[in-house]
Parts: sequence; C-alpha cells; structure tokens
Amino acid sequence: MRVIVQIRIEGAESRPVTVPLHTIDHPCDLLQDVGLGLGDAKSNLGKLQQTLVRQQLERYLADRRGCAHCGRPRAIKGYHPLRFRTANGDIALRSPRWHRCRCEQCREATFCPRATS
Ligand SMILES: [Zn+2]
Repeated sequence: MRVIVQIRIEGAESRPVTVPLHTIDHPCDLLQDVGLGLGDAKSNLGKLQQTLVRQQLERYLADRRGCAHCGRPRAIKGYHPLRFRTANGDIALRSPRWHRCRCEQCREATFCPRATS
C-alpha cells in the first residue's frame, strides 16, 4: 500500500497550496510492519517543520517588504545563508537584505528585515 502525506496551507490573502511531504511505500506482510515506523514519523515531522518555517518566513517577509511610509516594495540587495534551528532539525534558509526606500530617512542604505522585529 502507498500512502501520500500532504499538507494544505491556507492564508486569508492567498490561494491554498498543497505540498506533498512524504510517500510511505513499504510492505505490510508482517504484523510488525503495520503502521508508521519511527523513521517515517521523524521524516514527516521534519518535512512538516521545514515547510511550515519556509511558508511562515515568506509571509513574514511579504508583510514587511513595503515601505512603512509610502507602501512601495523595497528593492532586494541580495541574500545570505541562514541556518534556522528547530527541535526537528536545522533548516537551511536564505535571508534577504533590502534597500531602504527613498522616503525613509536613515543612515543605513540597506537592512536585514529579520533584525527589525
Ligand atoms: Zn517609501
């Protein structure tokens, strides 16, 4: 038997997204093979955590990209690697650096949005 584990992510302002997490495809010829193994459970939890963190970070950044004064989206200067630690393992992400908007009065021309919350 094959079981495909998916999650559906819904947001108030976005279309629902279905993300496949894991395919469980192992025989159940023996009684001890029935059900989820510890490896399957850990893998599913790790992938769920990874998907959730990526979706939440994307939403977090999208909510803050517009200039607080004029609403124009800030230009992206670049990205740097970010290792996000969770109870289910580290997640490799990339964190953006944005240019300040022309209407913002600040000494720094660019900033990291993670550092502003
Ligand atoms: Zn602005």
